Amino acid sequence: MEEEPETGNSSRTERKALEKAKILQRERERKVFRLVGRVLKKPEAQRSEEEAAALLLHREAVEELCRRQIRRNVLKRKQEEVFDEVDELKSKVQQLAAAVKQAGHLVVYTGAGISTAASIPDYRGPNGVWTQLQKGRTVSSSDLSKAEPTVTHMSIRTLHKEKLVKHVVSQNCDGLHLRSGLPRQALSELHGNMFIEVCTACSPAREFVRLFDVTERTSLHRHGTGRACRHCGSELRDTIVHFGERGTLEQPLNWKGAAEAAKEADVILCLGSSLKVLKKYACLWSMNRPANKRPKLYIVNLQWTPKDDLAVLKIHGKCDDVMSLLMEELNLQIPKYSRAEDPIFSLATPLRPEEIQSHTREVLAAPDGQEGPSAEERQPSEESSALQGGWFGRGYSKGRRKKKKKAS
Ligand SMILES: [Zn+2]
Repeated sequence: MEEEPETGNSSRTERKALEKAKILQRERERKVFRLVGRVLKKPEAQRSEEEAAALLLHREAVEELCRRQIRRNVLKRKQEEVFDEVDELKSKVQQLAAAVKQAGHLVVYTGAGISTAASIPDYRGPNGVWTQLQKGRTVSSSDLSKAEPTVTHMSIRTLHKEKLVKHVVSQNCDGLHLRSGLPRQALSELHGNMFIEVCTACSPAREFVRLFDVTERTSLHRHGTGRACRHCGSELRDTIVHFGERGTLEQPLNWKGAAEAAKEADVILCLGSSLKVLKKYACLWSMNRPANKRPKLYIVNLQWTPKDDLAVLKIHGKCDDVMSLLMEELNLQIPKYSRAEDPIFSLATPLRPEEIQSHTREVLAAPDGQEGPSAEERQPSEESSALQGGWFGRGYSKGRRKKKKKAS
């Protein structure tokens, strides 16, 4: 022990005493909180006089515990699914219909909630992928390719055809917007498309649409699909932006189109997204503009979203229900999805015979009486490789070279 002058010594004793007092104080507070917490849990009528007196004595603890309870309730409410009453839903959809008609540049943002009717689990709903994973359960992705475009997908496609919707920005990788017939230039699939693999070694990047989920072997930071580019032999990669990869990919699929659409937008309709991820993409929200110059926000989602307070209107309903009502209001028919018109069958590049075994995922059955183009008929898609605007264009190429070496 080093020697200290006498004053130092006494101040050290004081300090120790002070610390001890603090510890005792904290201990007392904990006891009070435990006591108060226990009493608060009891119905008022069942509290003894002593207990009631304790609550009066420890007002601050009571208030703090009530504040904590409120915070917990808010969190719980944010997870809950809320449904508007039939009449309320109808009147809200009428407002939405008016906004759609008046909009100069309507952009639609979609999330997993629009595909739940296609039996694709959403992410944060009570049975969603994220929720299940949080609970330690496993989630199978093999069902994804069985899904078909929903009423919502088909409605959006029609609204685009009618020039009421200008652009669609989707978080979904299920490819259902594309399969509904929505033109590719009107679509940004920010997190990729599970039916598309690309060769980023070819210049420009070459794209291969497939009739099966190409992501079987891919995962976070591992994007090789195991198949090779038939032009240069490099391994093909999926287009999926996994959780946690947002930072490394500068240009998700047609990001440019999404940013341009957001810039022009005067109305944004968000369908079935928790917006927890989308809200982080600053350029989608024009937040740099003064509040009255930002696009008007309409949100359809059963759960709370972080944009609810900024929305002109929040509709608590299932996307398919809301879109059916909306289309009725707008006097528009919702076309039935038809395999015969699903563009994926003409966009797809068939596997070569030696590639057939390269995956175990279910293959989308070609429409009745129609065989997919054979490998010989279909010239390896020069025209589809000319489709620009993928993330594998500019931004992505930065990190590509290094990664490729590692992969090979
Ligand atoms: Zn290539």
